[in-house]
Amino acid sequence: MSSQPQKVVVNLTDEEQAAVQALQQELKLDDPAEVMHLLLRQASQRAMVVCPNCGHSASRTSADDATCASCMSVIHLSDGIWEAIQLQ
Ligand SMILES: [Zn+2]
Repeated sequence: MSSQPQKVVVNLTDEEQAAVQALQQELKLDDPAEVMHLLLRQASQRAMVVCPNCGHSASRTSADDATCASCMSVIHLSDGIWEAIQLQ
């Protein structure tokens, strides 16, 4: 985790800006940036997998498989739970 927040400038279309504003109101957030943080968190939780062996984030290789870059575990999604099936 970096302690220095990085600024990412995104050019939103009018439609996307309206969507961000609508979400900001709906979620009662103070700042449009909070909307982006929230969306990013939600999206990353779907995309990222936490390695059950070492707790680092693993990257998905398919819908129900992932590999941990930290401890090299092969992780498989079984009944909604990520389980390490191979420890190298
Ligand atoms: Zn791991």
